[in-house]
Amino acid sequence: MVVMAVTDRALGSKGISAFVVERGTPGMTPGQKEDKLGMRASDTSEVLFDNCRIPADQMIGVEGQGFVNTMEVLDSGRIGIAALAVGLAQGAYEAAVSYARERKAFGRTISSFQAIQFKLADAATRVEAARLLTYRAAYLRQQGRRTTLESSMAKLYASEVAVRVADECVQIHGGYGFVKDYPAEKYFRDVKLTTIGEGTSEIQRLVIARQLLSR
Ligand SMILES: Cc1cc2nc3c(=O)[nH]c(=O)nc-3n(C[C@H](O)[C@H](O)[C@H](O)COP(=O)(O)OP(=O)(O)OC[C@H]3O[C@@H](n4cnc5c(N)ncnc54)[C@H](O)[C@@H]3O)c2cc1C
Repeated sequence: MVVMAVTDRALGSKGISAFVVERGTPGMTPGQKEDKLGMRASDTSEVLFDNCRIPADQMIGVEGQGFVNTMEVLDSGRIGIAALAVGLAQGAYEAAVSYARERKAFGRTISSFQAIQFKLADAATRVEAARLLTYRAAYLRQQGRRTTLESSMAKLYASEVAVRVADECVQIHGGYGFVKDYPAEKYFRDVKLTTIGEGTSEIQRLVIARQLLSR
């Protein structure tokens, strides 16, 4: 795994370096597996370090560049989270459409109620906008451009849209949105990670504002 360590306390963010640490290295032990709200098919665990000595040749790149390099990696990683959010939002939207077509209330399918139609229209429009922001960031990144602004915009928007669409998906399912017979509750739980991982929505807003104001 890649581990960031402070190699010079006096230098702040310029005193952080990245290391490859192999499983089984003395002093490195797995901690407890987290009991998560969602994304439960992928394990997340604490890792504990106690007197763990890493040879200098396992350092990645130049000493003190770990933080700067991580920020660059996040420019790509955030596009990945945006894509994950778009996929989850699309899945939740499709589950909502399918249920709205099937469920009858007051003698009609609920998809014939304008209240439900408006939810679906908003969801589809937002997912499409999130997808386009994500494609744009990915396209620019593929051209070798620095995409700090575009990656954060895509990640912020797509993740918040996904949380909203998953919420409406549960709502459209009514009581079945709250139980495990349908996928709505799983989308609702899984999607929340996207507004947190690789930097929270608040941090994305900070990054976006800094980028805009530095121009
Ligand atoms: C399932 C899972 C997997 C993860 N996998 C990895 C991984 O593989 N590698 C890795 O490095 N990390 C991983 N993380 C960590 C993840 O990136 C962090 O949890 C996330 O970036 C938020 O950081 P934090 O938990 O320290 O929150 P905090 O920084 O404690 O934030 C708490 C709250 O305060 C707000 N806040 C903090 N600072 C500011 C500020 N300056 N201005 C305004 N608001 C602020 C935040 O937005 C948030 O609402 C994982 C987390 C989870 C849940």
